[in-house]
Amino acid sequence: MDRYCRNTAFPGIGKEGQERLFARHVAIVGVGALGGTLAMHMVRAGVGTVTICDHDTVDLTNIARQLLYDEDDVGASKVWTAAKKLRRMNSDVEVRAHDAFLDESTAPHILGGVDLVLDGTDRMAPRYVMNAYCVAHGVPYVYAGVLGGHGMLFNVVPADGTACFACIFPRSEAMERVPTCAEAGIVNTVPAIMASMQATEALKLLIGAPYTRDLVVYDAWKQSFDRVRVRPRPSCGVCGR
Ligand SMILES: [Zn+2]
Repeated sequence: MDRYCRNTAFPGIGKEGQERLFARHVAIVGVGALGGTLAMHMVRAGVGTVTICDHDTVDLTNIARQLLYDEDDVGASKVWTAAKKLRRMNSDVEVRAHDAFLDESTAPHILGGVDLVLDGTDRMAPRYVMNAYCVAHGVPYVYAGVLGGHGMLFNVVPADGTACFACIFPRSEAMERVPTCAEAGIVNTVPAIMASMQATEALKLLIGAPYTRDLVVYDAWKQSFDRVRVRPRPSCGVCGR
């Protein structure tokens, strides 16, 4: 408990919240810019079991924003490199690693039994998979996306009847073609900002504290936040009735 004393001294978490974190299992899909920072926050916070998955290798162009990696890691598997570093950060945490991309066929194996799913990807296809899995299994899913100087964040909490990812971004060919950071660029500081906000929402959800129900839109270049009230879409193909 000692190593978490700054978190437990905060009344919103306390020792009771920390005990809950020890008992929880989170999955982080993708361990790049968002996912690497998410994984560090979850492991350092003492979440009992942290599952990570990715099927990429570290590239020199990743280093500017992917804070888990350094020059020595270029060319190495992201997920195995991440697992090794995360285990060194906190040996209390069980880190499970899957060298795989998330899709409909791998989701049950990778996400089975987890208490919460964190989106660390930068592509739409795996987000639809995470969202559908989480809605079907009643698991909270914390979405974040970054592009250019912007970030977005939204909590999908099926048990509370929130909107889901597909309510906001209905699946379509145009959605599948939303540019990635490789195509549209990204300010290197933005992913760590959004991942830290995502990780904070995850801590709240894991201990049962109030979380945001708004879509949060961050503009790093203007240094502004907007909040959009979102309601479930009755005709949603994933969560609609
Ligand atoms: Zn929906």
